[in-house]
Amino acid sequence: MTAHANRASNLFIRCPHCETKANVRTSEQQTRTMRSLICQCTNAFCAYTFVASLEAIRTIAPSAMPHPEIDLPRTINAETMERSGSLSSYKKPRKKNYHDHAATELNPKPEFPAIPT
Ligand SMILES: [Zn+2]
Repeated sequence: MTAHANRASNLFIRCPHCETKANVRTSEQQTRTMRSLICQCTNAFCAYTFVASLEAIRTIAPSAMPHPEIDLPRTINAETMERSGSLSSYKKPRKKNYHDHAATELNPKPEFPAIPT
């Protein structure tokens, strides 16, 4: 694993026996979407060594360079955004500004009617 990969993610896997952090010792690409990881528990009293897998399973945003063999199911959010036509024009939600705040003040939540005594 490169230093860059270590810096880029805090991703790790726990030992299935003692739940201590396990290190990935080596890995091997199995398919375009799946990689096998040889992992070793860092607890010296356990030292369990096991194979785990890392796999791309769903699409959040489609690739701009799609491979013809890759067709992963989409998340509900991606399907919703594509149906509404907003996926290509997706922008981060803007922060509320003064006008949003003013509109809230002009249209306050209705108050519940007083209970007659
Ligand atoms: Zn362990």
